[in-house]
Amino acid sequence: MKKHNFYAGPSIMSQYTIDHCIDAIHDFAGTGLSILEISHRSKEFSAVIEKAEQLFKELLDIPEGYRVIFLGGGASLQFAMVPMNLMRTRAAYLDTGTWANKAIKEAKLFGEVEVVGSSKADNYTYIPKGYVVPKDVDYFHITTNNTIYGTEIRHDMDVPVRLVADMSSDIFSRPVDVSKYDLIYGGAQKNVSPAGVTFVIVREDALGHVDRVLPTMLNYKTHVEKGSMFNTPPVFPIYAALQTLEWYKELGGVKELQRRDEEKAAVLYDAIDGSRMFVGTVHPEDRSIMNVCFVMKPEYKELEADFLAFATERGIVGIKGHRSVGGFRASLYNALPLESVKVLTQAMHDFEATH
Ligand SMILES: *Cc1c(COP(=O)(O)O)cnc(C)c1O
Repeated sequence: MKKHNFYAGPSIMSQYTIDHCIDAIHDFAGTGLSILEISHRSKEFSAVIEKAEQLFKELLDIPEGYRVIFLGGGASLQFAMVPMNLMRTRAAYLDTGTWANKAIKEAKLFGEVEVVGSSKADNYTYIPKGYVVPKDVDYFHITTNNTIYGTEIRHDMDVPVRLVADMSSDIFSRPVDVSKYDLIYGGAQKNVSPAGVTFVIVREDALGHVDRVLPTMLNYKTHVEKGSMFNTPPVFPIYAALQTLEWYKELGGVKELQRRDEEKAAVLYDAIDGSRMFVGTVHPEDRSIMNVCFVMKPEYKELEADFLAFATERGIVGIKGHRSVGGFRASLYNALPLESVKVLTQAMHDFEATH
């Protein structure tokens, strides 16, 4: 049976990426070797990593003065690397959920953290507004898409200090004005590649302003200077990332991805809003177009397990909600076709009709 993959991450990959990866596992770039066994110093792989950086820059229209590096350790390592490299004494953070919290916890190891806004008291059902970012902090950190709670900041804000963003789960879902950020990072396993690589887009002149001793591997400069080749980079996920970026370019770039993503999200949110049984969990103005969280209304609550089983029978995979929200979460990443969303909304409709 055809599966419809709504997992939050690792998550659906395009057939384009999977097919090209399979080919490269058999024979990478005509070398007669597998991508899994080739030296990262080979000229064929050097070309891959250079092209991946170049396509990142092209697709996101990244200005001069920025570098894109590919690291290990996941977005979670960035929670520590960001303050290590950018925080002299104090930074501001916006608390919008689990991942933001984890970033705050790490930042506190390196200095003073001012949490300028939080929606924790309302289980992160909205993005805090009306907060003030102090002018004397070293940077302001945001999580643009809250993968677990299903809220999203879909604009590029102006702040009086360096802006740092975790874009793990919404990179390439809209054009981003990169010039407003000093650093953007993310685990690639949501919209870019299989797990194992982390992307960092960094303004070069944001580096080198802290006094603390940085371990070589945790210093962004090491990786910037060596083009992500200081040590062995995650070769295979980087190869897969390049395939995804090439697919994005073929499709028409981020504007087209945005159009598709907004259309998919609208189909699902309309179904939720028009339903007698289901209800969204977040404030409509802050709804994520990547991760759609919804539950059953109190009077139907006991049917949630039945709906999961009903959906599973139709090939729908990965919609069980995160334990901190419950209910359902449908992740609508770039590689997910509109058809899968329609299968889900049809299942919701049919289930409702029979209960
Ligand atoms: C998935 C995710 C992370 C964690 O990424 P890892 O690569 O597993 O460390 C961090 N932030 C956000 C917003 C995420 O969606």
